[in-house]
Amino acid sequence: MDNLIITDLSKTYNNGVKALRNISLQIHKGMFGLLGPNGAGKSTLMRTIATLQEADSGSMQLGSLNILEHPNELRKVLGYLPQQFGVYPTLSSEMLLSHLAVLKGIMNRNERKDIVHALLHKVNLFEVRKQKLGEFSGGMKQRFGIAQALLNNPKLLIVDEPTAGLDPVERNRFYNLLSEVGEQTIVILSTHIVDDVKELCPRMAIINKGRVIIQGNPIQIMKSLQGRLYEKTIHKSELEQYKKEYQVISDRLYLGKQLVHVVSDTYPGSNFKSIEANLEDVYMSQILNS
Ligand code: ADP
Repeated sequence: MDNLIITDLSKTYNNGVKALRNISLQIHKGMFGLLGPNGAGKSTLMRTIATLQEADSGSMQLGSLNILEHPNELRKVLGYLPQQFGVYPTLSSEMLLSHLAVLKGIMNRNERKDIVHALLHKVNLFEVRKQKLGEFSGGMKQRFGIAQALLNNPKLLIVDEPTAGLDPVERNRFYNLLSEVGEQTIVILSTHIVDDVKELCPRMAIINKGRVIIQGNPIQIMKSLQGRLYEKTIHKSELEQYKKEYQVISDRLYLGKQLVHVVSDTYPGSNFKSIEANLEDVYMSQILNS
């Protein structure tokens, strides 16, 4: 199976924003989570990999294919679900998928019908295939988005912020669908939602301000805070003081009480409790320190 190797990819927009700064990533078959806050450069990177825009420098290789030199070859094996995926609201999912299949060159009517039906089954929309897309829920639209991205049986599937606006049940169903696809394909999931990555991705990277801050397996990444993370319940009025004294990486209300997580190389003092880090902690500490 081909790997995607990205080396030193950089991009500065005309307005001077450096959206990508020497991005290097190695991405294998399965789910790869690209996590970063808004403005980190995720969409720029996704669009560049999808050959929808160009980088200033760097290289990308899918197996033996040099992507920047042969963008058309990449497009043949690419599935892409962009952040804004519009549908024609008056068409049914079956009709639109069939039209899109024609655009992708699946000209034989029977073959097309078989593929469209198989995909609608796969994304669990077969029963509602005659229903208008305008009546679909957010989750159903996203699943339709995956169906269209799978039309050409891609080797590389890119999904950009796909779970925004989905309720927990829809999100879960969408996760299951993606991980099933990830059994055969490279799937890059770009998101600012830590849970998306935690649940799904055996490999991940955190990016911020156009740079890769850390990449690897989420469990290894969580170990980067081992022995340095502490928790304490404080009074709400003490929060500002704690933020001055300690490296507070999260402050949230838990059952009505103010809970802080603090990173410290040495024991920070009374009533702090040493805790295991979760991915959210690592993410917050990496973003705050980058
Ligand atoms: P993310 O997807 O992580 O939110 P983006 O790739 O959309 O990040 O944006 C990265 C940075 O590049 C941001 O500062 C954004 O404002 C800027 N940017 C994105 N697209 C353009 C563009 N077409 N022209 C100029 N600046 C852009």
